[in-house]
Amino acid sequence: MTISASKTQELVIYNSLNGQKELFKPIHNTHVGMYVCGPTVYSDVHLGNCRTFVSFDLVFRYLTYLGYKVRYVRNITDVGHLENDADHGEDKIAKKARLEQLEPMEVVQRHTLNFHSTLRKLNTLPPSIEPTATGHIIEQIEFIKTIINNGFAYEVDGSVYFDVKAFDKEKGYGKLSKRNLEDMENASRALEGQQEKRNPQDFALWKKAEPKHIMRWASPWGQGFPGWHLECSAMSAKYLGDTFDIHGGGMDLKFPHHECEIAQAESCTGHTPVNYWMHANMLTLNGKKMSKSTGNTLMPLDIFERGSDLLEKTYSPSVVRFFMLQAHYRSVMDFSNDALAASEKGYQKLMEAISLLPKIVSDTKDKVKTTGLKVSDWVQSCYDAMNDDFNSPVLIARLFEVVKYINQLYRKEFSITNQDLELLKQTLSSFVFEVLGLQTITNISENESSAIESSDEGKLDIAIQLLIDLRNEARASKDFATSDRIRNQLQEKGIVLKDSREGTTYVLE
Ligand code: AMP
Ligand code: ZN
Repeated sequence: MTISASKTQELVIYNSLNGQKELFKPIHNTHVGMYVCGPTVYSDVHLGNCRTFVSFDLVFRYLTYLGYKVRYVRNITDVGHLENDADHGEDKIAKKARLEQLEPMEVVQRHTLNFHSTLRKLNTLPPSIEPTATGHIIEQIEFIKTIINNGFAYEVDGSVYFDVKAFDKEKGYGKLSKRNLEDMENASRALEGQQEKRNPQDFALWKKAEPKHIMRWASPWGQGFPGWHLECSAMSAKYLGDTFDIHGGGMDLKFPHHECEIAQAESCTGHTPVNYWMHANMLTLNGKKMSKSTGNTLMPLDIFERGSDLLEKTYSPSVVRFFMLQAHYRSVMDFSNDALAASEKGYQKLMEAISLLPKIVSDTKDKVKTTGLKVSDWVQSCYDAMNDDFNSPVLIARLFEVVKYINQLYRKEFSITNQDLELLKQTLSSFVFEVLGLQTITNISENESSAIESSDEGKLDIAIQLLIDLRNEARASKDFATSDRIRNQLQEKGIVLKDSREGTTYVLE
């Protein structure tokens, strides 16, 4: 299999590792390995989390659309993520289990199900593999053993820490986040729970389980549990190899999580783990990062079903997905009711235009005089947008050019050949449904589709069509006084009727 040149034409990806857009060249030509950090399932996902997963769904969809066979691995963190992303304190899941008097795995199950159902509503595709941290304890222990053997980790009283200084000396720490170890050392002080570490920057690969800690496994260093950063290194290497193509996650994971992943992988396998690092930017609420820990969140169900003080009404998941894709994945996006309402209008316009497509009649080449839009150029412009680091807002702007054109074709202001009409239909449908992952009007809630029918434009169209029918009836019965009156009075209001062999259409002037 080869990837079609006309489609790919130079896909470039912004690589966070060097802050530049780079031509995408997968290691194995037609196969792509992509790893995305998944959620820590101690609570339901908020809309900010969803934005990151929708962003990488777009990447997954577009690569697949281009013809790549993508192995998309997205993990579930079900152990090891301690409070405040620190190396001491309680495990987030164990804490929730203690507070709610549940088994930790009940907490995990409940929030994994919520995560899946929320992402399904947002029409994201499931990953190829969804490994859990607790399901890969053996692999993580093996990873640590190799790092210790290679001289980049040390054991203290049943815990194992990564030796950042030793790693920095040989391989350089801070490549991704552009942090310098010396500056970090100057800024840091001995923190609570850090006494065991040789240096404050060292991070836990394995933590000894205190007697009250329930999530624990046997290891060469005694009973304990893995450090948060380790699972992603162990599982990505297992399923994608020592070096793979794309690693993604939210911007807030760049440091320390991804920086530590690089250090772990390089000190274990000797290879740089990832060729393209991609970071999705944050969804904010009132200008501040949406975050579980600060409570500055909006839950997807509040938007889809329950309602919230922040919203004037509920919005369907399709509209929310469209809203998210209207910003580039690397831009910060602020959530507001007004922005969502504007997205709903745009989404409805797009879907209305798509529903008009079957009603558009093509002409033979010799009859097509005023085409209005060069369809092949427009098609290329859609690819250009996505090939430029998955630029969905530019793609959406291109789609709106064609929305206008479809309305013009419908009103017979322009004509189109059958070949161009087919190309337009096929491209529009591919980009809207396959690449952006939006859903048709029939797949969205009834109240949304009735909103489209009852939109002002929709109502005006119905009224004018009614008057055109009345005028045609008057003409058929030779009542020219009535037919002229309808045409003239509409014209006075700026609605111009145009008669042709195919029938009567109108334009708004
Ligand atoms: P967590 O469950 O906290 O590990 O987060 C899961 C994913 O959501 C990670 O990739 C985070 O970077 C991402 N994330 C967290 N908060 C936001 C936000 N406000 N906007 C976008 N992505 C976020
Ligand atoms: Zn991760």
